Amino acid sequence: MPTKLEDGGVNPIAFNLTKPGYVAHKNEIDDAIREVLETSWFVLGKNGDAFEHEFATYLGMAHVLGCNSGYDALVLALRALGIGTGDEVLTVSHTAVATAVAISATGATPVFCDIDPVTFNMDPNKLEAQLTARTRAIVPVHLYGQAADMGAIMEFARTHHLKVVEDCAQAHGARWQGQMVGTFGDASAFSFYPTKNLGAYGDGGAVATNDDAVANQVSMLRNYGWQPGRRYISEIRGVNSRLDEMQAAILRVKLRHLDAGNDARRRLASTYAKHLSGLPSLVVPTEAPGNHHVFHLYVVRVDARDEVATSLRGSGIGTHVHYPQPIHRQPAYLDHGYADGSLPETENACREVLSLPMYPELAEADVARVGRILRSLIEKRPTP
Ligand SMILES: *Cc1c(COP(=O)(O)O)cnc(C)c1O
Repeated sequence: MPTKLEDGGVNPIAFNLTKPGYVAHKNEIDDAIREVLETSWFVLGKNGDAFEHEFATYLGMAHVLGCNSGYDALVLALRALGIGTGDEVLTVSHTAVATAVAISATGATPVFCDIDPVTFNMDPNKLEAQLTARTRAIVPVHLYGQAADMGAIMEFARTHHLKVVEDCAQAHGARWQGQMVGTFGDASAFSFYPTKNLGAYGDGGAVATNDDAVANQVSMLRNYGWQPGRRYISEIRGVNSRLDEMQAAILRVKLRHLDAGNDARRRLASTYAKHLSGLPSLVVPTEAPGNHHVFHLYVVRVDARDEVATSLRGSGIGTHVHYPQPIHRQPAYLDHGYADGSLPETENACREVLSLPMYPELAEADVARVGRILRSLIEKRPTP
């Protein structure tokens, strides 16, 4: 703990904490965990079934299938849709690396499309240029909690007969034109990593789909290729990727508080915006018209980002950069042939983005303090 903070304050402000969410719902969570232990059924049981049903109802989808992580959910959804070796999948380079790694894991090649500089999401106008005879699918990412432009993306997919798997890992409960993300594509993938808007206390993920055949395929793939109710006989070559009962029981509790948590994030975002508006070298996040942004992250664009982050750290304020290097410039993806500068909006965003503290239980007063300190830092900087 810093002994003396530069602004004279005493309390550090963490970028993100998961414990306050537990403390807020401790009794319900403890009861849910105890019930699993007392029942002593740990994998693919009644909590998993109930969570799948409850999350499907929340989304308004026919099927939800739990699995081991958001990454696995992407892989399982793509495999269930027949995506594999030789196929190309359009996605973005400005995302968690999991998005691209999941596409690679199916044997397909991720093809990166540039982003919209305002929403940080896939720019549908950039899709056409990346289309080839091998393009089979699109994986749009609803980054930072804001829906991608699903109208234009779905229209492009229909025109070119492409499958769509939405990466909803950062956007549980977000909406585009009133419609919940995860309900547009052929399938969608959710992560329940502890820090996500709907977070478990370990790894977890889920695939959502309205397609009975895709659901059946995912349910076999996640459990060694066995048909439900027919153990020990592999119909297809599956994997082991199941959501365990402990995590499912915890997620059933957390799901009941998801909307309230998202509302709290939205309130904190408007407090930030109030304190940070009107600065020439800082851009606050924009909620695109018709969108319901759930602020998984509160990401500003700022000049001299690294210096600003260092100064904030001096005042005890935790920040992160999501993400410091675009995927197409990371060592594992250099052989995909993207030169420096080939995705200009993506590369600009990587230089400027800064994620400020954000989680539902964060105090308004702390957000106001971050806002004030950041504003005075920027006002003190010489204008370029
Ligand atoms: C977190 C995340 C994932 C991966 O989820 P895991 O559960 O950690 O595997 C995928 N895509 C995006 C955009 C994410 O933020």
